Amino acid sequence: MKSLLPLIFLVLTACSEQGNQVQNTSSENDQPTEKLSPLGIDAITTDSLTGHIKVLASDEFEGRAPGTVGEEKTINYLAENFKKAGLQPGNGDSYFQKVPLTSVEAVNQPALTIQSSEGEAIVLNYPSDQVIWTRHQTEQVTLNDSQLVFVGYGINAPERNWNDYDGVDVKGKTVVMLVNDPGYATQNPELFNGNAMTYYGRWDYKFDEAARQGAAGAIIIHDTLPAAYPWSTVSSSWTGPKFDIIREDKGESLSIMESWITKDNAKLLFSKSGLDLDAMYEAAKSADFKAVEMNLKASATIQNKVANVESNNVIAILPGSKYPDEVFLYMAHWDHLGKDPSKEGDNIFNGALDNASGTAGLLTMAEAFASLPEKPERSIVFMAVTAEEQGLLGSAHYAANPVYPLANTVAGLNMDVLKNFGRTNDLVVIGLGMSQLDGYLEAKAKSQNRYLKPDAEAQKGYYYRSDHFELAKLGVPMIYPKGGYDHVEKGFEYGMAKAKEYTDNHYHGPSDEYNESWDMTGSVQDLQLYFMVGQDIANSQDWPEWNEGAEFKAARDAQRAGK
Ligand SMILES: [Zn+2]
Repeated sequence: MKSLLPLIFLVLTACSEQGNQVQNTSSENDQPTEKLSPLGIDAITTDSLTGHIKVLASDEFEGRAPGTVGEEKTINYLAENFKKAGLQPGNGDSYFQKVPLTSVEAVNQPALTIQSSEGEAIVLNYPSDQVIWTRHQTEQVTLNDSQLVFVGYGINAPERNWNDYDGVDVKGKTVVMLVNDPGYATQNPELFNGNAMTYYGRWDYKFDEAARQGAAGAIIIHDTLPAAYPWSTVSSSWTGPKFDIIREDKGESLSIMESWITKDNAKLLFSKSGLDLDAMYEAAKSADFKAVEMNLKASATIQNKVANVESNNVIAILPGSKYPDEVFLYMAHWDHLGKDPSKEGDNIFNGALDNASGTAGLLTMAEAFASLPEKPERSIVFMAVTAEEQGLLGSAHYAANPVYPLANTVAGLNMDVLKNFGRTNDLVVIGLGMSQLDGYLEAKAKSQNRYLKPDAEAQKGYYYRSDHFELAKLGVPMIYPKGGYDHVEKGFEYGMAKAKEYTDNHYHGPSDEYNESWDMTGSVQDLQLYFMVGQDIANSQDWPEWNEGAEFKAARDAQRAGK
């Protein structure tokens, strides 16, 4: 670690460097000196940041959906600005890495019909009562009279002696599951990770596990608190075209139908089956839980519009001056939800905070690094990935097809949703305690008179919900800092209230738009901190590692050992 000096001194250092240059020039030829643009960390300003946000989050960019005009405008804007800043193309002679995707869109507002043993048909409507879809990449799929089985949290975790599928065969059946995990439900720190959601609590893990178990259908019961978002987020995020990587088996090995249903409708189904949902919640908390057959059958026909789409990751590099093969990676997803033509009024999901802010941060930092008179010894790669909103697909594609070998990727930092309410004394780090990267962040936070803080909402499983996770799960040490709440003047409650106001009213909605009232000084301070961390690691021969017990350490050790 290079320096632990307070921030103010650092800035002076930068300026003085700058000053020196300026002075030298003037004394030599007495020409009036033109105003030089700030260099390095000083190039990270609210003007540069908001300038890029305004463009990326403008209606003209149409909510930046993959495979649309919005994508074209976005990736060209990114490439042009990387080039203008003086960064090299990051994928051979191109700034783009092609990401072949397929989009499957349910177009028949598919109903989900539940038949009781008495022959009563309960029809759940789309998308008010349920949202169903398929990852089968075909025109039509049909689920017919598939027996419902309640499997608790739908978790099979041998290393935790937990298997909700123990003793039940769900092949061809439809499993009904709870969201999150038993650790959250019991708040027992000994169970899973207690309040902090594990990957097992995530919807993507539950659907994949249901498929591995051979289930023809899979239903997750929505519940706002354990899910950490309201039904409106489910109905907006899981309707419309759903992208996926192009699967060799066209998704045949996955469940025919996947779904969320509202808690009220789940209560109705359990009561129709002579069961009590609250009692089932209780039962599911125990490792002795046994799956419960429900005397109900599910049927649905989903008609799809299937289209192959080619999207792009945008990659730029600042080659290292001494160790160019060793790479520090900054990343942020450029994509968002696009436009919803079926929606009245404002139907553009501008995604100003999510994630035009992080993408603008990536550009602003790239410009700052490129302006450094002395380039770092290791290379710095800046990557804006696609299709994060569709399930981290751009980063998953990069991780499976890395341009820079993952074993030579020293570490990385992901930015997703910067803060817009001013400077904070704290910096929240999602997944704090997982790796030695914390030490670098802590040192730089101290230089800004700030302190690190773990995620106050660990139950939301944020570490598994953004792009760093696709590289982390393959072993690369990745850090995911997320702003902070302890506002320098107005305190913690103010920051929490501002963040909650965004999550409740704007997250994944058309109103996530840039506003002149935003105060981006806090995000500038965060970006300057991230800049210093990357600069430090890129000017060292350190290889930061995962801490003992971290779920990705084994993968990294094997990776570095060339296995
Ligand atoms: Zn995002």
